[in-house]
Amino acid sequence: MNKTILLNNRPKGKPSESDFKFVDEETKDLPSGAIIVATKYVSVDPYLRGRMRDEKSYIPPFELGKPITSTIVAEVLESKNDAFSKGDNVTGMLPWKEKQVISEDKLKEIRKVDGEQAPLSAYLGILGMTGLTAFFGLTDIGKPKEGETIVVSGAAGAVGSVVGQIAKIRGLKVVGIAGTDEKVEMLTSDFGFDEGINYKTTDNMKEALKKACPNGIDIYFDNVGGDISDAVLFHINKFARIINCGAIAVYNETSVPKSISVQPFLIKNSALMQGFIVGNYQDRFPEGIKQLSQWLAAGKLKHEETIVEGFKNIPQAFIDLFDGKNKGKMVVKV
Ligand code: NAP
Repeated sequence: MNKTILLNNRPKGKPSESDFKFVDEETKDLPSGAIIVATKYVSVDPYLRGRMRDEKSYIPPFELGKPITSTIVAEVLESKNDAFSKGDNVTGMLPWKEKQVISEDKLKEIRKVDGEQAPLSAYLGILGMTGLTAFFGLTDIGKPKEGETIVVSGAAGAVGSVVGQIAKIRGLKVVGIAGTDEKVEMLTSDFGFDEGINYKTTDNMKEALKKACPNGIDIYFDNVGGDISDAVLFHINKFARIINCGAIAVYNETSVPKSISVQPFLIKNSALMQGFIVGNYQDRFPEGIKQLSQWLAAGKLKHEETIVEGFKNIPQAFIDLFDGKNKGKMVVKV
């Protein structure tokens, strides 16, 4: 028997354990051309919350009573396909199952990863979706220039911590916003940010940003949306670039969130605000992975992760993202 995790309810507000259901299913026989894999690491990501809503988006919603999927690293247990051997490690968007058969037609959606080159969990973080999000969002939309000031929200998380470090490599002044003093300390001591702001203890975010960014803000890498992002708008410079990567502060809202009007800020500063999805850069992933790997090997990027142990803890690890329990990438080790 083999455990799998289904979407039990569409969450109302913050997800809870009862929104997920564990079921046992029989392990299927291996058809010709297929492989069977055992899950080793599971990525839990804020964007999965959006897929739990029955809404049109850039990716179809999860179906009720069907397995949740996310990026997984798994080990090949048995192969009836010449391209894969027992013991290979692979990654891809796969259902939350302890073990699974991947049929021949689906094998093009997974790729091998090398555990010698980097820890396997890194392929879910710095060398995976979140690292690539940081890299392409910042370099392609942010177009960072030496001497500029960047503010990063969600700064101690998977995407934010990499954005800030890349911005330092590019010679920017980097200010990060995060939700605990420990995380703020980590921004400067571990990731080399210039300053950090704890949004939960700062009474006046507008003032805190003014103090931290005396020359104004040239780039805002927005992982959270909501009030924090409203406050940033008051300090943007002429030709500022605002990168809308995520809006976790509003993912659990049950009504349309209220926000200030962004248009006057953009108009008077000739500023750009652009949303993006990392999948837009799929054709350029090899370029991103190559650069991130080089920086990692050279010690220019630090790779922080929070590893939760146990298949049964996948839902809770996902829920904990909304309480800021992770530092760096949240990953479950099965
Ligand atoms: P993450 O930052 O590692 O984890 C989520 C963090 O969000 C938490 O640790 C928490 O840190 C913070 N948070 C939770 N609730 C918050 C709130 N109400 N206000 C402010 N901060 C809050 O997650 P990630 O994977 O790196 O993703 C970061 C953002 O990027 C998410 O919004 C995600 O959806 C988005 N994203 C977008 C793409 C894309 O293609 N556009 C790809 C990947 C991720 P604190 O302790 O600081 O509160």
